[in-house]
Amino acid sequence: MTLSHPVRTLLVSSILVSLALPAVAKTPVATGTGGAVATISEPASQAAIAILNQGGNAIDAAVAAAATLGVTDPFSCGIGGGGFMVIYLAKDKRVITIDHRETAPASFTPTVFLKDGKERDFETVVASGMSVGVPGTVRGWHEALDRYGSMSFKQVLAPAIDVASKGFKVNDNFSHLVQENEAKFSLFPATAALYLRNGKALPAGSTLRNPDLAKAYKELAAGGVKAFYNGKLARAIVDAVNAPATPPGVRVDAGNMTLADLANYEARLRQPVHSTYRGYDLYGMPLPSSGGVAVAEALNILEGYDLKAMPRAQAEHLYLEASRLAFADRNAYLADPEFIDAPVAGLLNKDYAARRRELINPAQASLHAPAGDPYPFQNDVSVPLRPNASKLIAEGAHTTHLTVSDKDGNIVSYTYTIESWGGSGIVVPGYGFLLNNEMTDFDFSGPAPNVPEAGKRPRSSMSPTLAFKNGKPAFSIGSPGGATIITTVLQTIFNYVDLGMSMPDAVNAPRLSERNGQATDVEPGFSGSAQAQALEKSGQHWSQTAEEIGAANALVFNPDGTVTAVSEGHRHGIGSALVQKTAH
Ligand code: GLU
Repeated sequence: MTLSHPVRTLLVSSILVSLALPAVAKTPVATGTGGAVATISEPASQAAIAILNQGGNAIDAAVAAAATLGVTDPFSCGIGGGGFMVIYLAKDKRVITIDHRETAPASFTPTVFLKDGKERDFETVVASGMSVGVPGTVRGWHEALDRYGSMSFKQVLAPAIDVASKGFKVNDNFSHLVQENEAKFSLFPATAALYLRNGKALPAGSTLRNPDLAKAYKELAAGGVKAFYNGKLARAIVDAVNAPATPPGVRVDAGNMTLADLANYEARLRQPVHSTYRGYDLYGMPLPSSGGVAVAEALNILEGYDLKAMPRAQAEHLYLEASRLAFADRNAYLADPEFIDAPVAGLLNKDYAARRRELINPAQASLHAPAGDPYPFQNDVSVPLRPNASKLIAEGAHTTHLTVSDKDGNIVSYTYTIESWGGSGIVVPGYGFLLNNEMTDFDFSGPAPNVPEAGKRPRSSMSPTLAFKNGKPAFSIGSPGGATIITTVLQTIFNYVDLGMSMPDAVNAPRLSERNGQATDVEPGFSGSAQAQALEKSGQHWSQTAEEIGAANALVFNPDGTVTAVSEGHRHGIGSALVQKTAH
């Protein structure tokens, strides 16, 4: 990948205007009745409330919020990507999930990311047509609305079309993210035209309009799901993947996606992963997301300890060790279930968790955990195929998570993504949305369950979760952050259930992410803290680079019938929690 000269931002698909929309103070916590929503974006939360106020249900409102996030947080998510939605249908007392993960084009093989027998450079693959999977978002939204919603694309996309047309104010966080992506965005003129000015990030305070994205949404509003997967838009996607437009002298690798890949894309309705933890029933995302299984396995391991009776540092030590063990298994066994026979029942078995727990030294951190043997716990007499434990692969750390409930008790917990910040960096010319780089979630080489294959979905970590107690909704939780999604969801549940924190405290507490790597990832300011020093006594240690981890959103269903929406109080520019009727 060569970047010979700065790209001029001559194209006019983005229009910057100097007048900023009025700033609205974001509220990261809100309690009330009726519906509730927590997202990372004020306009997205407002879109959800607007749809609820028009009589839409939680599913309608979730799609409205997601579409608006595609405008205001285009580097994390959008119609060029995919996601996982967990839905609770109150009337039927049923939890279902919609897997609309991006899928490998038919041209993919296990060696697609090898060159001369060696793995290709990760970042070079990211910023290329090769990293783009067939987008699943629009198909997922269609299934959600068609099966469980009450409104049309036209109704739920209206707020997002409005924001894309009128513009929104670029905040520090947005500007900073573009700055970090200047090199990648400069490779693609359509992207530079939208997000850069003279090769530089738009400054905070500018108002960004995206009329091309408004046009794409209007085409969906008029033509439905077909408008995306067949016809002009599909052709524009295929062209952008197979022949990415670059400035003179700049070359990126092309992908190999066909119109048939798009026309054949299907979302999958899947049974959630069900597990129990200290009286809660948890429902999480099944494969191809490893999230539900990994969170459940770690909690099963933790359930064997009386964590409430322990000093915080000891309980947190056990949290880190349980996470390490669950990640060893996740890395070894989990991938797209339509391609591999993953030992999910064994991994979720409480007796298996007890076996894993025996490996934990309550006083001393382990350095590296090997994968366990879940097969004897599978209740399956066939001869197991035991895949090799694979190494920890490079994974992005982005995405967005949102959660919505409605007055009738329906709940949506929804994580969706374009993978890295800014995905592949390729904006589809004329349509204003970024294409994902989800294919880099595959292992680049095998043997490993998660190698690339035609039509396969790369293993994910997304963990949208719903919790129930005595058959009633208790809370929902989820986060972005690549593989740290699993630890953020796990730690927030641990903070809330075991450390007895309120949900806002559980969300805002410092995050520690142990994924069976060299060291535990921590956030800025953690090293040197009393909490860190207490954990170091048992040999826990931290990675050198500290970065913000995740951006969680949660709902808590209170015993008095109110609901509390909880977003980030200090991360990612602060999130936005709203309720239909505020409790006084
Ligand atoms: N690609 C990641 C996954 O599916 C999510 C993107 C991210 O959060 O970085 O697990």
